[in-house]
Amino acid sequence: MNEALTDFALTENVNAYEAALTEVRGRLGADYPLTIGGETVETGTWIESHNPGLATEIIGRSAAGGPAEIDRALAAAWEAFRPWSALSMDERIGLVRRLAAVMRQRRFELAAWMTFEAGKNFAEADADVAEAIDFCEYYAHRAPALAGEHQTYPSPGESNTSTLVPLGAGAVISPWNFPLAILTGMAVGPAVVGNTLVLKPSPDTPIVAQKLMECAGEAGFPAGVFNLVTGTDADIGDYLVDHPRTRFINFTGSLTTGVRINQRAAAVHPGQLWIKKVGLEMGGKDALIVDETADLDYAARMAVSSGYGFGGQKCSAMSRLIAVESVHDELVDRFVALAEELEVGPADENPDFSALINERAKDKSLAYIDIGTETARLLAGGTTGPDGGHYVMPTVFADVAPDSRLAQEEIFGPVVSIIKAADFDQALEIANGTMFGLTGGLISNDRERLDRAKREFEVGNLYLNRKITGAFVGLQPFGGLRLSGTTVKAGGPYYLRQYLAEKTIAEKLA
Ligand code: NAD
Repeated sequence: MNEALTDFALTENVNAYEAALTEVRGRLGADYPLTIGGETVETGTWIESHNPGLATEIIGRSAAGGPAEIDRALAAAWEAFRPWSALSMDERIGLVRRLAAVMRQRRFELAAWMTFEAGKNFAEADADVAEAIDFCEYYAHRAPALAGEHQTYPSPGESNTSTLVPLGAGAVISPWNFPLAILTGMAVGPAVVGNTLVLKPSPDTPIVAQKLMECAGEAGFPAGVFNLVTGTDADIGDYLVDHPRTRFINFTGSLTTGVRINQRAAAVHPGQLWIKKVGLEMGGKDALIVDETADLDYAARMAVSSGYGFGGQKCSAMSRLIAVESVHDELVDRFVALAEELEVGPADENPDFSALINERAKDKSLAYIDIGTETARLLAGGTTGPDGGHYVMPTVFADVAPDSRLAQEEIFGPVVSIIKAADFDQALEIANGTMFGLTGGLISNDRERLDRAKREFEVGNLYLNRKITGAFVGLQPFGGLRLSGTTVKAGGPYYLRQYLAEKTIAEKLA
């Protein structure tokens, strides 16, 4: 079972969440050292984390690591590797389940940190913690299937077995948009099957990463299994990727960074004993198709939720709404009306969505709004929001050309492009007409078209007659095709196998 999401229609839950916000607010601004081999490490320099909705508010300062700390963290991870991988799968599973239990106990507190540091409203932050717990429970549940020896065919006078063994010390490089869930999933999956990790979270959400380390400490993980090195991309990004002692790289983030990591990781440096294994989960330009058989009210609601949940800052967010011509105008009217109703404001006031993560993200959305204003028809938004943070209002463009920059490039903000298609065939062609293939959806009452979408819509996660965001761990293994990723499929049945190598042992029997 997935962890139940909190119902914020109930006053008692809102009150409990607000109490957690008050408690966390009182702890903002603290300093956090790195954790390497179970020891705290200060470096003398810090990265400051700010509230996206109130840029003057400091969430905390996390030590800024450099190459020396990466060297040290990899050494600690390798030192921990032997004893950690020598534990039984059950012992490691026990610790992962305890981590889930600690997060359950600290659920609203962890979510409150995300409200402050990532600008998540109550439901989004709560879902992020629930997903982190799900990753722990799901990987703990899947791991036993990979333990033990597999006997190959009987052979007289010989014993032949094949066993899965962990790879070693790997790097987890995570994004800010699911600061707890993605970091937890990418760390706990490899760890439960015996690997050790250096965690390098996004410099935008270092404090949530610090909270994960606190939880792992409370759960009783041995020193060196998880090592946290926060720092700037320039100081530690390439260094960690290039390092000859990095055995594998578990990355989630943008296409540009992913491609860079993939290229650099291909090099074999002096002293390196392996080809690095690289898993990449990257961006999208996700489309929802609505055809003439759809219930348009429902379609508009699903589209607004898919497009503007967390301000469009989900990799699964709908950034293209493709409408079949005969229902296009009516759908546009309904969509715009709903988009204009969305409340935008400080995350701790629980609006529909809040400020974008940083100034760069805001400028990026505004730059695409400029492009759209020249090349398409602006129907809503197009402006910044309240003062004090990186706000951009829900923005809708219609008459967007399918091959335009607006319709091809990932914006990662609340900017939706509506594209008109002559019919369903053309809609599908447009939907498939980008380099990405992460999520996509179709709202239709035509069985044949739904079946055709299953075969021809080239995405890793296809959603039929529902919103295109909000995959549940285990239920909907997540990850993209094409340039959206290497089909790592977080929360899927084959995930753990990717952090194991197969070892064959043949023994002549006396
Ligand atoms: P990003 O690429 O800017 O950063 C991701 C991580 O890479 C961060 O930890 C960052 O510090 C690190 N990094 C940056 N430069 C590096 C370098 N040279 N070497 C090593 N590490 C480096 O992405 P972001 O802005 O944090 O996240 C948003 C992006 O992530 C979007 O493109 C979104 O679609 C994608 N995303 C994808 C998924 C998925 O499952 N496919 C999930 C969430 C987010």
